[in-house]
Amino acid sequence: MPDAVELIRAKRDGRTLTGAEISWLIGAYTAGLVADEQMSAMAMAIYFRSLDPAELRAWTAAMVSSGERLDLSGLPVPTVDKHSTGGVGDKVSLILAPLVASCGAAVPQLSGRGLGHTGGTLDKLESIPGWRASLSGAEMMTVLAGTGCVICAAGPGLAPADRKLYALRDVTGTVESIPLIASSIMSKKIAEGTAALVLDVKVGSGAFMRDITDARRLAETMVALGGEQGVRTTALLTAMDEPLGRAVGNGVEVAEAVAALRGDGPPDLVEVTLALAREMLLLAGIDADPAAALADGRAMDRYRAMIAAQGGDPDAPLPEAARVQTVTAPASGWLHRLDARAVGVAAWRLGAGRARKEDPVSAAAGIICLAKPGEQVERGQPVLELRADAADRFGRAREALADSIEIADGPPELGPRVLARIGL
Ligand code: URA
Repeated sequence: MPDAVELIRAKRDGRTLTGAEISWLIGAYTAGLVADEQMSAMAMAIYFRSLDPAELRAWTAAMVSSGERLDLSGLPVPTVDKHSTGGVGDKVSLILAPLVASCGAAVPQLSGRGLGHTGGTLDKLESIPGWRASLSGAEMMTVLAGTGCVICAAGPGLAPADRKLYALRDVTGTVESIPLIASSIMSKKIAEGTAALVLDVKVGSGAFMRDITDARRLAETMVALGGEQGVRTTALLTAMDEPLGRAVGNGVEVAEAVAALRGDGPPDLVEVTLALAREMLLLAGIDADPAAALADGRAMDRYRAMIAAQGGDPDAPLPEAARVQTVTAPASGWLHRLDARAVGVAAWRLGAGRARKEDPVSAAAGIICLAKPGEQVERGQPVLELRADAADRFGRAREALADSIEIADGPPELGPRVLARIGL
């Protein structure tokens, strides 16, 4: 039987691990036979030495096999999901899942919660009175079969090795490793049972991957892993230097998503959502126009059905913040930069995000970007509206925003939000 210390030394010294060694390690770690401190050392060794393609394949397969793999093959329509690597103001899933469902696919979106400056989809939806993220397996299937889409919490039986390992990586400085990120994301999506998957790999100041070369490598790694495990996978690289849309937070993002479903969404949000929808429909083999489904209200009908099926009231008012302050333009001119990371951190400090996974989040806290890059502003004009439940939240949020706004004389050159496509 392999020995954990031997395997850690081997990876530390640059030896390639065999499939049998990796399968033993992940199985033994899940069962509690390999200690957290040993797995931490292994994660650090992988951070420095990486995993070659065969090791990564074995690592991902072992993470999938650590738990159950859902079987969605009984559904009468093709299944396709989307995963985003996380961005600021990224409320795309709320629009995309019902939109693609309204075009004839089934979208099983099993999600996690937000940690750090990028918000979690479940936290956003929980600002809707009555809405439940935790569904039993049978409830999940009923919602998916009935409405064509479901967004709910992944159960504890799905890739439990990743659940343990991700918590460890979070506190040991080993999150930022392409093979560990790729295997973490893909093991959960493969276990979820979707037949096809589109990855939205965010690039820029507000993203995990600030650099397009790293983002491309991560996307290529995940696309290859999906293909090897029988999940048709493609990726779009999308820009995350400024928030997506104007709202950043929980309830405020739900409100903006609903506006988009009404045909009244900000252009950048609609552009990214439609690009991802087209990609999902292509993978599902469905010939439909998602722009038409958004425009004629079909997507909105699906959204309302999905929210109601999970106990939510789509007509209930969303929570309002008790306190509101603004950040004004320091000069007159054209807004060139509104830094996504700074806005994300500020929204988090206002109460929209959590520092530890057991912390509660505020449904009402967040930021509205009253101006976006490419727009003209006058000195003293409000650029950001900050919302919080308590006055003591504003100080540190304002600190995060100190260098977030750049104004210049002429209009900026704005690039497209969709930067590249990786895949089949
Ligand atoms: N999201 C995940 O699920 N896993 C990672 O490692 C990073 C982001």
